Amino acid sequence: MHDRDGKIWMDGELVDWRDAKIHVLTHTLHYGCGAFEGVRAYNTVNGTAIFRLREHTERLFNSAKILRMKIPFSVEQIEQAQCEVVRTNNLESCYLRPLVWIGSEKLGVSPKGNQIHVMVAAWPWGAYLGEEGLKRGIRVKTSSYTRHHVNITMTQAKAVSNYSNSILANMEATEDGYDEALLLDSAGFVSEGAGENIFVIKNGVVYTPDLSAGALNGITRNTIFAICQDLGLKLVEKRITRDEVYIADEAFFTGTAAEVTPIRELDRIEIGRGYRGPITEKIQAAFFDIVNGRNAKYGEWLTKV
Ligand code: PMP
Repeated sequence: MHDRDGKIWMDGELVDWRDAKIHVLTHTLHYGCGAFEGVRAYNTVNGTAIFRLREHTERLFNSAKILRMKIPFSVEQIEQAQCEVVRTNNLESCYLRPLVWIGSEKLGVSPKGNQIHVMVAAWPWGAYLGEEGLKRGIRVKTSSYTRHHVNITMTQAKAVSNYSNSILANMEATEDGYDEALLLDSAGFVSEGAGENIFVIKNGVVYTPDLSAGALNGITRNTIFAICQDLGLKLVEKRITRDEVYIADEAFFTGTAAEVTPIRELDRIEIGRGYRGPITEKIQAAFFDIVNGRNAKYGEWLTKV
Protein backbone atom coordinates (compact mmCIF):
# COMPACT_ATOMS: atom_id res chain seq x y z
CA MET A 1 0.00 0.00 0.00
CA HIS A 2 2.85 2.38 0.86
CA ASP A 3 4.90 1.67 -2.26
CA ARG A 4 3.08 3.33 -5.12
CA ASP A 5 3.02 6.50 -7.18
CA GLY A 6 0.69 9.33 -6.33
CA LYS A 7 0.15 12.10 -3.80
CA ILE A 8 -1.25 12.19 -0.29
CA TRP A 9 -2.51 15.38 1.34
CA MET A 10 -0.70 15.82 4.65
CA ASP A 11 -1.23 18.85 6.89
CA GLY A 12 -1.99 21.16 4.00
CA GLU A 13 0.50 19.90 1.44
CA LEU A 14 0.50 17.28 -1.30
CA VAL A 15 3.30 14.85 -0.45
CA ASP A 16 4.68 12.04 -2.62
CA TRP A 17 2.90 8.80 -1.69
CA ARG A 18 6.14 7.08 -0.59
CA ASP A 19 7.17 10.05 1.58
CA ALA A 20 3.88 10.33 3.50
CA LYS A 21 5.42 9.06 6.75
CA ILE A 22 5.11 9.55 10.50
CA HIS A 23 7.46 8.84 13.44
CA VAL A 24 7.32 5.57 15.42
CA LEU A 25 6.67 7.58 18.59
CA THR A 26 3.41 8.97 17.20
CA HIS A 27 0.95 9.19 20.10
CA THR A 28 -1.97 7.66 18.17
CA LEU A 29 0.15 4.64 17.23
CA HIS A 30 0.68 3.91 20.93
CA TYR A 31 -2.64 4.76 22.54
CA GLY A 32 -5.12 4.54 19.66
CA CYS A 33 -6.77 7.94 19.93
CA GLY A 34 -7.49 9.06 16.38
CA ALA A 35 -10.44 9.63 14.07
CA PHE A 36 -10.98 8.71 10.47
CA GLU A 37 -13.45 8.63 7.63
CA GLY A 38 -14.23 6.37 4.72
CA VAL A 39 -15.58 8.25 1.72
CA ARG A 40 -16.24 7.26 -1.88
CA ALA A 41 -16.04 9.12 -5.16
CA TYR A 42 -17.99 7.73 -8.09
CA ASN A 43 -17.56 8.15 -11.81
CA THR A 44 -21.02 9.64 -12.20
CA VAL A 45 -22.91 10.54 -15.37
CA ASN A 46 -21.69 14.12 -14.74
CA GLY A 47 -18.06 13.22 -14.07
CA THR A 48 -16.20 12.20 -10.92
CA ALA A 49 -17.96 13.30 -7.74
CA ILE A 50 -17.61 12.62 -4.02
CA PHE A 51 -20.72 11.21 -2.36
CA ARG A 52 -22.00 13.14 0.67
CA LEU A 53 -18.72 14.96 1.17
CA ARG A 54 -20.19 17.45 3.66
CA GLU A 55 -21.71 14.73 5.87
CA HIS A 56 -18.48 12.71 5.91
CA THR A 57 -16.38 15.77 6.68
CA GLU A 58 -18.74 16.88 9.42
CA ARG A 59 -18.66 13.40 10.95
CA LEU A 60 -14.85 13.56 10.93
CA PHE A 61 -14.98 16.85 12.84
CA ASN A 62 -17.58 15.44 15.24
CA SER A 63 -15.47 12.32 15.83
CA ALA A 64 -12.50 14.58 16.62
CA LYS A 65 -14.66 16.71 18.92
CA ILE A 66 -15.85 13.63 20.83
CA LEU A 67 -12.21 12.55 21.18
CA ARG A 68 -11.18 16.06 22.35
CA MET A 69 -8.94 16.65 19.35
CA LYS A 70 -9.00 20.07 17.72
CA ILE A 71 -8.49 19.80 13.98
CA PRO A 72 -6.26 22.70 12.85
CA PHE A 73 -8.18 23.11 9.57
CA SER A 74 -11.70 24.16 8.64
CA VAL A 75 -14.40 21.83 7.28
CA GLU A 76 -14.04 23.63 3.93
CA GLN A 77 -10.27 23.05 3.85
CA ILE A 78 -10.70 19.33 4.51
CA GLU A 79 -13.40 19.15 1.83
CA GLN A 80 -11.04 20.88 -0.60
CA ALA A 81 -8.25 18.49 0.39
CA GLN A 82 -10.45 15.52 -0.50
CA CYS A 83 -11.34 16.96 -3.92
CA GLU A 84 -7.69 17.81 -4.54
CA VAL A 85 -6.50 14.29 -3.74
CA VAL A 86 -8.98 12.72 -6.19
CA ARG A 87 -8.05 15.24 -8.90
CA THR A 88 -4.28 15.07 -8.41
CA ASN A 89 -4.23 11.28 -8.53
CA ASN A 90 -6.42 11.27 -11.67
CA LEU A 91 -8.93 8.96 -10.03
CA GLU A 92 -12.31 8.40 -11.64
CA SER A 93 -13.87 6.39 -8.85
CA CYS A 94 -12.12 5.70 -5.58
CA TYR A 95 -12.20 5.32 -1.83
CA LEU A 96 -10.93 8.22 0.28
CA ARG A 97 -9.39 7.93 3.72
CA PRO A 98 -9.10 11.09 5.81
CA LEU A 99 -7.35 10.51 9.16
CA VAL A 100 -6.80 12.77 12.17
CA TRP A 101 -4.06 11.77 14.58
CA ILE A 102 -2.00 12.98 17.52
CA GLY A 103 1.65 13.74 16.83
CA SER A 104 4.96 12.57 18.26
CA GLU A 105 6.09 15.50 20.43
CA LYS A 106 5.57 13.51 23.63
CA LEU A 107 4.28 10.20 24.92
CA GLY A 108 2.26 9.40 28.04
CA VAL A 109 -1.51 8.86 28.07
CA SER A 110 -2.27 12.58 28.19
CA PRO A 111 -2.02 13.87 24.62
CA LYS A 112 -1.48 17.46 25.80
CA GLY A 113 1.49 19.11 24.12
CA ASN A 114 1.10 17.14 20.91
CA GLN A 115 0.13 18.53 17.54
CA ILE A 116 -3.00 17.30 15.78
CA HIS A 117 -2.37 16.16 12.20
CA VAL A 118 -4.62 15.43 9.24
CA MET A 119 -4.06 13.45 6.08
CA VAL A 120 -6.22 12.43 3.13
CA ALA A 121 -5.36 9.54 0.82
CA ALA A 122 -7.39 8.07 -2.05
CA TRP A 123 -7.08 4.96 -4.19
CA PRO A 124 -9.27 2.74 -6.39
CA TRP A 125 -11.23 0.21 -4.32
CA GLY A 126 -13.92 -2.07 -5.75
CA ALA A 127 -16.71 -3.86 -3.90
CA TYR A 128 -15.54 -4.26 -0.26
CA LEU A 129 -17.30 -7.59 0.23
CA GLY A 130 -16.80 -8.70 -3.38
CA GLU A 131 -18.78 -8.21 -6.61
CA GLU A 132 -20.27 -11.64 -6.09
CA GLY A 133 -21.37 -10.60 -2.58
CA LEU A 134 -23.27 -7.62 -4.00
CA LYS A 135 -25.28 -9.97 -6.23
CA ARG A 136 -25.64 -13.20 -4.26
CA GLY A 137 -25.32 -11.96 -0.72
CA ILE A 138 -22.72 -12.83 1.89
CA ARG A 139 -22.41 -15.31 4.75
CA VAL A 140 -22.23 -13.74 8.20
CA LYS A 141 -21.41 -15.07 11.65
CA THR A 142 -22.54 -13.65 14.97
CA SER A 143 -19.35 -12.60 16.72
CA SER A 144 -18.22 -13.93 20.07
CA TYR A 145 -16.97 -10.36 20.66
CA THR A 146 -19.43 -7.77 21.99
CA ARG A 147 -19.75 -4.36 20.28
CA HIS A 148 -18.59 -1.42 22.36
CA HIS A 149 -20.93 -0.25 25.07
CA VAL A 150 -22.00 3.36 24.37
CA ASN A 151 -20.05 4.65 27.38
CA ILE A 152 -16.65 3.10 26.70
CA THR A 153 -14.83 4.52 23.68
CA MET A 154 -17.79 6.52 22.28
CA THR A 155 -19.65 4.78 19.51
CA GLN A 156 -20.64 7.90 17.55
CA ALA A 157 -16.99 8.69 16.89
CA LYS A 158 -15.40 6.89 13.98
CA ALA A 159 -12.49 6.33 16.31
CA VAL A 160 -9.34 4.42 15.39
CA SER A 161 -9.49 2.55 18.71
CA ASN A 162 -13.00 1.21 18.02
CA TYR A 163 -11.62 -0.84 15.17
CA SER A 164 -9.60 -3.30 17.24
CA ASN A 165 -13.03 -4.69 18.16
CA SER A 166 -13.95 -4.78 14.45
CA ILE A 167 -10.66 -6.45 13.54
CA LEU A 168 -11.10 -9.19 16.14
CA ALA A 169 -14.66 -9.85 15.01
CA ASN A 170 -13.81 -9.81 11.30
CA MET A 171 -10.80 -12.11 11.76
CA GLU A 172 -12.77 -14.57 13.84
CA ALA A 173 -15.57 -14.71 11.25
CA THR A 174 -13.37 -14.88 8.16
CA GLU A 175 -11.03 -17.49 9.69
CA ASP A 176 -14.15 -19.58 10.30
CA GLY A 177 -14.98 -19.29 6.59
CA TYR A 178 -17.60 -16.52 6.75
CA ASP A 179 -17.47 -13.22 4.88
CA GLU A 180 -18.16 -10.85 7.77
CA ALA A 181 -19.09 -10.64 11.46
CA LEU A 182 -22.27 -9.36 13.08
CA LEU A 183 -21.73 -7.89 16.52
CA LEU A 184 -24.27 -7.77 19.33
CA ASP A 185 -24.36 -5.00 21.93
CA SER A 186 -23.59 -5.58 25.60
CA ALA A 187 -27.26 -6.40 26.26
CA GLY A 188 -27.25 -9.01 23.48
CA PHE A 189 -29.16 -7.04 20.83
CA VAL A 190 -28.01 -6.68 17.23
CA SER A 191 -25.66 -3.74 16.81
CA GLU A 192 -23.79 -3.74 13.47
CA GLY A 193 -21.25 -5.46 11.28
CA ALA A 194 -17.50 -5.03 11.78
CA GLY A 195 -17.63 -2.11 9.32
CA GLU A 196 -21.29 -1.91 8.29
CA ASN A 197 -24.76 -1.08 9.56
CA ILE A 198 -27.38 -3.78 9.29
CA PHE A 199 -30.98 -3.76 8.03
CA VAL A 200 -33.55 -6.57 8.10
CA ILE A 201 -36.84 -6.79 6.22
CA LYS A 202 -39.91 -8.60 7.54
CA ASN A 203 -43.34 -8.54 5.91
CA GLY A 204 -42.36 -5.57 3.76
CA VAL A 205 -41.15 -3.42 6.69
CA VAL A 206 -37.49 -2.39 6.91
CA TYR A 207 -35.87 -2.48 10.38
CA THR A 208 -32.49 -1.29 11.63
CA PRO A 209 -31.07 -1.10 15.16
CA ASP A 210 -31.44 2.28 16.83
CA LEU A 211 -28.15 3.93 17.71
CA SER A 212 -28.39 3.02 21.40
CA ALA A 213 -27.16 -0.43 20.28
CA GLY A 214 -23.75 1.20 19.77
CA ALA A 215 -23.82 1.24 15.97
CA LEU A 216 -22.15 4.03 14.05
CA ASN A 217 -24.55 6.60 12.60
CA GLY A 218 -23.76 5.50 9.07
CA ILE A 219 -24.12 7.90 6.19
CA THR A 220 -25.17 5.02 3.94
CA ARG A 221 -27.71 4.06 6.64
CA ASN A 222 -29.11 7.56 6.37
CA THR A 223 -29.18 7.27 2.57
CA ILE A 224 -31.24 4.06 2.94
CA PHE A 225 -33.75 6.02 5.07
CA ALA A 226 -34.28 8.41 2.14
CA ILE A 227 -34.53 5.53 -0.34
CA CYS A 228 -37.15 3.76 1.81
CA GLN A 229 -39.20 6.93 1.90
CA ASP A 230 -38.97 7.26 -1.89
CA LEU A 231 -39.95 3.61 -2.37
CA GLY A 232 -42.86 3.91 0.06
CA LEU A 233 -41.27 1.42 2.46
CA LYS A 234 -41.92 1.76 6.17
CA LEU A 235 -38.67 2.03 8.11
CA VAL A 236 -38.43 1.34 11.84
CA GLU A 237 -35.41 1.91 14.13
CA LYS A 238 -35.68 -0.51 17.04
CA ARG A 239 -33.93 -3.09 19.17
CA ILE A 240 -33.42 -6.23 17.09
CA THR A 241 -32.63 -9.69 18.41
CA ARG A 242 -30.31 -12.17 16.76
CA ASP A 243 -33.18 -14.58 16.09
CA GLU A 244 -35.20 -11.82 14.41
CA VAL A 245 -32.41 -11.78 11.82
CA TYR A 246 -32.65 -15.59 11.41
CA ILE A 247 -36.38 -15.37 10.59
CA ALA A 248 -36.23 -12.14 8.55
CA ASP A 249 -37.32 -12.28 4.91
CA GLU A 250 -34.23 -10.34 3.82
CA ALA A 251 -31.19 -8.65 5.38
CA PHE A 252 -28.40 -6.44 4.14
CA PHE A 253 -25.34 -4.53 5.31
CA THR A 254 -24.64 -0.91 4.40
CA GLY A 255 -21.48 1.16 4.45
CA THR A 256 -19.38 3.45 2.32
CA ALA A 257 -17.04 0.57 1.53
CA ALA A 258 -19.68 -2.21 1.62
CA GLU A 259 -22.31 -0.08 -0.21
CA VAL A 260 -25.50 -2.23 -0.05
CA THR A 261 -24.49 -5.86 0.43
CA PRO A 262 -27.20 -8.50 0.88
CA ILE A 263 -26.78 -11.04 3.70
CA ARG A 264 -27.84 -14.52 2.65
CA GLU A 265 -26.94 -16.43 5.80
CA LEU A 266 -26.36 -15.79 9.50
CA ASP A 267 -24.72 -18.54 11.58
CA ARG A 268 -25.41 -21.05 8.78
CA ILE A 269 -29.12 -20.26 8.89
CA GLU A 270 -30.47 -19.13 5.52
CA ILE A 271 -32.20 -15.76 5.53
CA GLY A 272 -35.37 -15.85 3.43
CA ARG A 273 -34.62 -17.76 0.27
CA GLY A 274 -30.89 -17.61 0.82
CA TYR A 275 -30.02 -15.03 -1.80
CA ARG A 276 -30.52 -11.31 -2.47
CA GLY A 277 -34.16 -10.52 -1.68
CA PRO A 278 -36.42 -8.49 -4.00
CA ILE A 279 -36.74 -5.45 -1.70
CA THR A 280 -32.98 -5.45 -1.06
CA GLU A 281 -32.45 -5.51 -4.82
CA LYS A 282 -34.72 -2.47 -5.27
CA ILE A 283 -32.99 -0.55 -2.48
CA GLN A 284 -29.58 -1.51 -3.88
CA ALA A 285 -30.54 -0.36 -7.40
CA ALA A 286 -31.85 2.95 -6.00
CA PHE A 287 -28.59 3.38 -4.05
CA PHE A 288 -26.43 2.84 -7.13
CA ASP A 289 -28.61 5.24 -9.12
CA ILE A 290 -28.06 7.94 -6.50
CA VAL A 291 -24.29 7.51 -6.09
CA ASN A 292 -23.78 7.35 -9.84
CA GLY A 293 -25.71 10.56 -10.43
CA ARG A 294 -28.70 8.96 -12.12
CA ASN A 295 -31.24 10.40 -9.66
CA ALA A 296 -31.45 14.19 -10.00
CA LYS A 297 -33.30 14.49 -6.67
CA TYR A 298 -30.03 13.76 -4.86
CA GLY A 299 -27.74 15.81 -7.08
CA GLU A 300 -26.65 17.91 -4.10
CA TRP A 301 -25.17 14.80 -2.45
CA LEU A 302 -22.54 14.64 -5.19
CA THR A 303 -19.66 17.11 -5.12
CA LYS A 304 -17.82 17.34 -8.41
CA VAL A 305 -14.08 17.24 -7.96
N1 PMP B 1 -20.40 0.84 11.21
C1 PMP B 1 -19.07 0.76 11.22
C2 PMP B 1 -18.40 0.14 12.39
C3 PMP B 1 -18.32 1.24 10.14
O1 PMP B 1 -16.98 1.15 10.15
C4 PMP B 1 -18.98 1.80 9.04
C5 PMP B 1 -18.19 2.32 7.87
N2 PMP B 1 -17.85 3.67 8.04
C6 PMP B 1 -20.38 1.87 9.07
C7 PMP B 1 -21.06 1.39 10.17
C8 PMP B 1 -21.15 2.47 7.94
O2 PMP B 1 -20.99 3.87 7.92
P1 PMP B 1 -21.03 4.69 6.56
O3 PMP B 1 -22.28 4.27 5.86
O4 PMP B 1 -21.07 6.10 7.01
O5 PMP B 1 -19.82 4.35 5.81
